[in-house]
Amino acid sequence: YAKKNRLDIQVYHQKIDVNSVDRLQLINELKPAIANDELVLFYQPKLDLAQNKVTHVEALVRWQHPDRGMIPPDTFIPIAEKMGQMNALTRWVINSALTQYLAWQAQGVNLAIAVNISAENLKDGGFCDYVLQAIRDKKVPIEALTLEITEDAVVADPDNAIKQLSLLKQHGLKLSIDDYGTGYSSLAQLKQLPVDELKIDKSFVQNLMVNSDDQIIVNSTLQLAHNLGLRVVAEGIENQATLNWLTERGCEMGQGFYLSKPIDAQALTTWLAQSLY
Ligand code: C2E
Ligand code: CA
Ligand code: CA
Ligand code: CA
Repeated sequence: YAKKNRLDIQVYHQKIDVNSVDRLQLINELKPAIANDELVLFYQPKLDLAQNKVTHVEALVRWQHPDRGMIPPDTFIPIAEKMGQMNALTRWVINSALTQYLAWQAQGVNLAIAVNISAENLKDGGFCDYVLQAIRDKKVPIEALTLEITEDAVVADPDNAIKQLSLLKQHGLKLSIDDYGTGYSSLAQLKQLPVDELKIDKSFVQNLMVNSDDQIIVNSTLQLAHNLGLRVVAEGIENQATLNWLTERGCEMGQGFYLSKPIDAQALTTWLAQSLY
C-alpha cells in the first residue's frame, strides 16, 4: 500500500476491479487500441442558459474494449499519461471530433465541440502546430473547437501553459479552464491565462441546492469570472432547481446528467431533435 499511486485511487474510485495483472494488460493494449480505432467519443450537451439552446458539446472518450466492454476514461487516461500515449490519444480525439463536427454540419446540425487536453499535451512542443494544422486540413472554422484544460495541468507548469495557450489563443482557438476550484491556481495565474471560459467543477454544483457553502463558492466564482471577462460553464447539473439557480445568476452555460449523460454521436443527434433545446 506504500506504493499506492494515482492510478490505484482512480481505479478504486470507479469501483472497477483492475488488479495489477489486468493493468499491465491494459497498458500493453492501449497503444494498438488507439491505432485500431477501439476508442469512441461520447458527447454531452453544453446548454446556453440564456438562449435555452444547445450550441456546444463536450467530447468524452471511452475505450470499447473487445473483451472488457466499455472502459471509462478515468481508468485509462492515467495509464496513457504515464505511458507516453497522451499525445497519440489527444490527436485521435481531435481528429475524431473535427470529423464529427463536419458530419453534423452535413446534417444541418451546428454544434461546436470541446475536447479535453492534458498536461502532457502542453509539454509536447508540436501540439499547438498539430491542432492548428488539423483545423486547416479539415477546413473547419476555428470557432468549431474549444480546448478544455484542467486547472491542475496549468498549475503543473504555469509558464509553459501560458506560453502554449497564448499561441493557440492568438490563432483564435477558444480555451476553457476545466475543474475550476479544485486545482489551487492563484488569481495571478488566472489573470494571465488567455482563456475564454471557466468551468466550475461539478463537486461545487452537484449539491448546490442543499449546500450553502457551495452556493457561496459558485456565486463568488461567477462574479470573479465575469469581472475578468470570462464566461462560466457549470458542470454537474443534476436537477431543474440547480439549472434555474444558475440561470438566474447569469451563468452562461450548463452541463450535467439532468440535461443528458454523455452519449454517442447518433444518440446525441436524436436527443437534440427530440429535446426542447
Ligand atoms: P471532465 O472533463 O471533468 O468531464 C466531466 C465528467 O463528469 C464526465 O465523466 C461526465 O460524464 C461527468 N458528468 C457530467 N455531468 C455530470 C453530472 O451531472 N453528474 C455527475 N456525477 N457527473 C457528470 P467521464 O466522461 O467519465 O470523464 C471523466 C474525465 O476523464 C473527464 O472529466 C476528463 O478529465 C477525462 N477525459 C475524458 N475524455 C477525455 C479526453 O478525450 N482527453 C483527456 N485528456 N481527458 C479526458
Ligand atoms: Ca472537461
Ligand atoms: Ca470538469
Ligand atoms: Ca474532472
